[in-house]
Amino acid sequence: MKKDLLFTPGPTPIPPEALLAMAQPIDYHRSSATVALIKDVLEKLKHVFQTENDVLFLTSSGTGAMEGAVANLLSRNDKAIVIRSGKFGERWGEICNAYGIEVIPIDVSWGNSVDPQTVEGLLTEHADVRTVFATLCETSTGALHDIEALANLTRIRPTLLVVDAVSALGADDLQMDTWGVDVVVSCSQKGLMTPPGLAFAALNQRAWDAVERSNLPKYYLDYRKAYESGLEGSVPYTPAVTLLTALQCALNRIRKEGIRNTIARHKRLALATRSAMKALGLPLFAASPANTLTSIRLPEEIDGKAFINLMRDTYGITYAGGQSQLSGKIVRIAHLGWVNENDVIVAISAFERGLVEIGYDIPLGAGIAAAQEVFNGNL
Ligand code: PMP
Repeated sequence: MKKDLLFTPGPTPIPPEALLAMAQPIDYHRSSATVALIKDVLEKLKHVFQTENDVLFLTSSGTGAMEGAVANLLSRNDKAIVIRSGKFGERWGEICNAYGIEVIPIDVSWGNSVDPQTVEGLLTEHADVRTVFATLCETSTGALHDIEALANLTRIRPTLLVVDAVSALGADDLQMDTWGVDVVVSCSQKGLMTPPGLAFAALNQRAWDAVERSNLPKYYLDYRKAYESGLEGSVPYTPAVTLLTALQCALNRIRKEGIRNTIARHKRLALATRSAMKALGLPLFAASPANTLTSIRLPEEIDGKAFINLMRDTYGITYAGGQSQLSGKIVRIAHLGWVNENDVIVAISAFERGLVEIGYDIPLGAGIAAAQEVFNGNL
């Protein structure tokens, strides 16, 4: 019997109470109940963003909040440093290009994370750079970036640090206020256990000052409009009310667990998955792997695409494959959102069986045993 399970870095599994909430009749978005819902959700998001700053939301996927960051923070002829270590770092560059921003790229080979010294060098060389665009977890490679180190460089300069935490919010640590990160963007369908369709941004005062100066065109992605209406529990345009009801349930879960524990759980799940891959003799792709997902480099003789399709079509197990130049070469197993230790055991056991089925010789059960050792506290 096929049983569908998602181990992708978005969308991620949705808890049952959130699914049930979405089955309720749709409410009017100006009703007092929806006003209360929006206020509650925006308040609870602060806990996940680890900030006292207000969080705003847009009805879009995560890229909407990324584009909004460029359009709202920058002005014509501004320069930005863009860290490109995979598909999503590249996206920052593409958005900047679309808005005519001069990009100073830092190209990091895929699988690696940026060296903060390189950023420091460029900040010194180009003192007029307005913004550094970075990624917490580069989902296309599974690499984690040292955002705290980057914030230490930007917080003492007039340059803003804008972080794409689209996939890693709630899984990898990002202490917005303590570290002094200026802008964090994220979305609903990853660590927040909600379907795709909502994007979020949190800005500190430095960032709001830049918003005041910005003269780039914006309309639907206007952060100020979203922020000001959000304070009233309102919205400039019809929001995805259904998704907000699901998000409220998911946020209640994170609040109950506590964000520090939520991050600690993701850390444990990632550690177990990495340990399993080591026991199976399979190398990790990322040099500094994130808690969000684990990328595994496949041996040459394995056709990664065929493997992913087999697992999905025959067993209902969905892992993510490689993107762009990594297509067919890596498998990405996410342990993100509504995922616990038992789920990870399933992900690893299915992975082992799948490899054996396609004729690749691994010590069956070694990965599971290694993961169990981590969960048992023996590693
Ligand atoms: N940034 C990162 C790090 C991501 O993982 C993703 C989605 N995989 C995006 C941006 C884009 O988000 P969306 O597809 O929701 O627009």
